[in-house]
Amino acid sequence: MNSSETTHTFIDESRIFKTLAQKESASAARVREILAKARELKGLDSSEVAALTTVDHPGLLEEFFATARFVKESIYGPRIVLFAPLYISNLCSNECLYCAFRASNRNIQRRALTQEEIAGEVEILVKQGHKRILLVSGESYPGADGFDYILKAIDTIYRTKAGNGEIRRVNVNIAPLPLEQFRRLKGAGIGTYQVFQETYHRETFARMHPGGRKRDYAWRITAFDRAMEAGIDDVGAGLLFGLYDWRFEILALLQHVEHLERVFGVGPHTISVPRLEPAAGSAVANNPPYPVSDTDFQKIVAILRMAVPYTGIIMSTRETPDIRRSTFALGVSQISAGSRTNPGGYTDGVNEEDAQFQLGDHRPLDEVIRDLAQMGYVPSFCTACYRLGRTGHDFMELAKPGEIKTRCDPNALSTFVEYLEDYASPGTMRAGEKLIEERLARMDPAVRRTASAMIDRVRRGRRDVFV
Ligand code: SAM
Ligand code: SF4
Repeated sequence: MNSSETTHTFIDESRIFKTLAQKESASAARVREILAKARELKGLDSSEVAALTTVDHPGLLEEFFATARFVKESIYGPRIVLFAPLYISNLCSNECLYCAFRASNRNIQRRALTQEEIAGEVEILVKQGHKRILLVSGESYPGADGFDYILKAIDTIYRTKAGNGEIRRVNVNIAPLPLEQFRRLKGAGIGTYQVFQETYHRETFARMHPGGRKRDYAWRITAFDRAMEAGIDDVGAGLLFGLYDWRFEILALLQHVEHLERVFGVGPHTISVPRLEPAAGSAVANNPPYPVSDTDFQKIVAILRMAVPYTGIIMSTRETPDIRRSTFALGVSQISAGSRTNPGGYTDGVNEEDAQFQLGDHRPLDEVIRDLAQMGYVPSFCTACYRLGRTGHDFMELAKPGEIKTRCDPNALSTFVEYLEDYASPGTMRAGEKLIEERLARMDPAVRRTASAMIDRVRRGRRDVFV
């Protein structure tokens, strides 16, 4: 496949601008029609999404958010999956203007963790109760290992045990690879391959990426095509909000999703919604060209929830606890917690100077879990789908009609009980046990029987119980 041909066909900028221009402000009746369609859980098309971006009236916005809450509740229920990012290296040969790891930034200490150091970080995360890691790295690998450094790191993560626990799913967020390396990444047993386009707007992309391999828009936007061809059918898309107009960006993202569905029969497994955060020595990060307000951020999550209802939405610790609390219900299904973005950060502690960007939520995992439980969300450490091979198309089939609830709800509760038994503080234990009782009482009898039996097994000492 010729990559420049592909980008010209599947991200059509002029079509996006035309759609946006036609929807200067949609009538309340039209918005309500679109919201009614969203409640059918079949997604929205680009003109419907463009219309929703114009909603500003507080009353209508409340209806819009209520619909997003309905979609989230119908498909994902109250579950929120937790993970921790693991930054293994900040070496990078690119020049992304918004990132502290860019090659020409002399103000940070460069560090690539050794395999022993990676194991040390993993032990700490496992002892906190994490089961999923998102491996993150700059685009340059240390020493003679080259790309093998990443493969070795994945192996180290899976092999590291601590007490009762281990990491059961390693997702990765690394630069786009050639086909042959994607095949090896698949062979290493990764869960999701994530890469963010940052901005779909070509001119902005060129301005933000003046040096290194990342200058090549086509190479990046075709990463999922190569990953899928290599057999990685769980891919995670994303954007860096703040670089360009978010309205344009979400319509372009939907074109990317449609492309994957058309060519491979499966859309992205997740969509991440990072907002630009301050980063050491970065004028762009400290003063975003298109700042996204908190309300617009919530609109973005709500629109994506309605437009691609079966896709997970990831919100990171870039956001503050308050924003996170008020955005979960609109459609978020996965969050990070207790994160560090400086390599070695779990062992050495936060080091803002060497971090990739500043965090908004500094709370430890246990506190985040307690907060979630007190709000009625079920913190989930489930990794069942990936372990049972329910990825890509199989996952989408399960996810689309919302049936996933009958499996995911019991799995979420059993992995949450595992967390409570092995890692929780007394306060989190109390909040968690109360939540579990409430959730069991609200389940259909058949699902409740399954969930109760699984929870009993965990309480009797079995681990990693899932359906
Ligand atoms: N180096 C690889 C790449 O760029 O694709 C993967 C890892 S990179 C460390 C992960 C993501 O961090 C980037 O895709 C970008 O969206 C995000 N990022 C970079 N600088 C940021 C900032 N100042 N605020 C928020 N997110 C940022
Ligand atoms: Fe390097 Fe990724 Fe940062 Fe760009 S965003 S400078 S590629 S680590």
